[in-house]
Amino acid sequence: MSNLSNDLSTLGQAAANFIASKHRMLIGGEREFADSGETLPVYDPSSGEEIGRVPSAGASDVDRAVIAARAAFERDDWANLTPVKRERLMLKLADLLEINAQEFSELESVNSGRGLVNARLFDVDLSVDYLRYMAGWATKIHGKTVGISAPYMPDSNFFAYTTREPIGVVAAITPWNVPLGQAIWKLSPVLATGCTVVLKPAEQTPLTALRFADLIEEAGIPKGVINIITGYGYSAGAAMVEHPDIDKISFTGSTEIGKGIGVVAAQNFKKCTLELGGKSPVIVLEDADLQSAIPGAAWAIFGNHGQNCCAGSRLFVHHTIYEKVLEGVADIAKNLKVGPGLDPETEMGPLVSKKQQKRVMSYINSALAQGATIVAGGEAIEGPGSYVQPTVISDVDDSMTVCQEEIFGPVLVVMPFSDVDEVVKRANATKYGLGASLWTKNISQVHRLLPKLKAGITWVNTHNVLDLAVPFGGVKDSGVGAELSEEAINHHTQIKSTIIQI
Ligand code: NAP
Repeated sequence: MSNLSNDLSTLGQAAANFIASKHRMLIGGEREFADSGETLPVYDPSSGEEIGRVPSAGASDVDRAVIAARAAFERDDWANLTPVKRERLMLKLADLLEINAQEFSELESVNSGRGLVNARLFDVDLSVDYLRYMAGWATKIHGKTVGISAPYMPDSNFFAYTTREPIGVVAAITPWNVPLGQAIWKLSPVLATGCTVVLKPAEQTPLTALRFADLIEEAGIPKGVINIITGYGYSAGAAMVEHPDIDKISFTGSTEIGKGIGVVAAQNFKKCTLELGGKSPVIVLEDADLQSAIPGAAWAIFGNHGQNCCAGSRLFVHHTIYEKVLEGVADIAKNLKVGPGLDPETEMGPLVSKKQQKRVMSYINSALAQGATIVAGGEAIEGPGSYVQPTVISDVDDSMTVCQEEIFGPVLVVMPFSDVDEVVKRANATKYGLGASLWTKNISQVHRLLPKLKAGITWVNTHNVLDLAVPFGGVKDSGVGAELSEEAINHHTQIKSTIIQI
């Protein structure tokens, strides 16, 4: 153990007990091991130590879970539940999560490497809020009445309307960067609309989803409505995507995997939402308030250790203020307190795994090999944990790998620009289109430039701010469809038109 390893004796009793327990999946309301009996390891990335094992589901387990979800979708105790009753179940689930918030935060922090406060805010508190927000939608799903003419039937009268029906069985697959948060983003609209689901969390971070399974039972959600399986993407995930009885795939993860899933979904005419990678630009104009732009740009990349799909990983700064901003952001990077997530002083924890550490370092080394300058950080921290120093890189050009590919780690490239129209073109010149931020006091420039930025979400004088009521999704290779807000309801319902002759 190094001093960068979590001290697991500081864990609360509830989290310690759960970590020590035998982990099982949730299928059809029963707690199950994988048919094969196989398990996969779960690590604490601050120490690299194995802290448990969870079932490694295969195709037969996926099949059992889909059968359970289908049966629940068609069973009266879910299909005929009134919206108010669905709302109440969701509110109960939210209350249970809130009551157990400290335990969930500790589990998430230990398993994902992120700080306790971060895990509390983004995995737990926001999930409680989202369950409550989406619970409200359960009673507000409606269609429209439509006045129709049917001129070829002049002697007839009609009454026409649309309804929104639940789409059916959803396959939800999530990444490891905000594990519980991502799971709840998937589960909440499922519950609000009356769908059912099979959820697979990322192999690295399955603990909070499995603990959440207990709350699902405690809240009284009918058996089979939510099924949670754990396993590898290439086996369990692929079996979910290919399963013929899935109606919709809801995937959050890398563009590479998402592209393959999109192809399978299209071939089988499955509904599909894909929330994928990003390489989001942060553009600081000449007149920006640097008091907020410098820490804002640092937070844009170093928040969640850069393991954030809309991380502001490319910083474009007007050449007149370039040196000042570069120095300011580099100073913040050098002074971030790196340490284990359970240490309350920690500002940045380890990356999720050794594999991710290696991947991030390979990008930093590629930049160095191409002649870039490391202004801050640039190294992995030796030891069993998967730490990478917060890193700021200059002397890059737009075509370098480090400027084009998503790193998903605490690595920022900083580039000067002199012309605003030119910088917008450069900001758009990657395959991604998730987020983009503009830092300026000039409202005319805001309105002139924002429509030109190819991104699903744009910010002014802030970055990474998401809200439950605001749609979130990407364009180009960053994805298809959107989560959060009423959009999530629309993506989990199918519109049906009805025409009645009266
Ligand atoms: P990933 O490798 O694509 O994995 C995401 C999920 O897909 C995991 O559960 C994974 O299982 C599973 N998976 C892997 N191969 C699969 C296959 N062939 N079929 C079905 N499922 C499969 O992504 P990641 O490394 O976990 O997460 C990082 C990525 O997520 C980044 O690109 C980031 O930008 C993106 N992300 C996007 C958003 C957004 O809202 N746009 C939000 C967060 C993260 P395993 O765990 O076993 O690999």
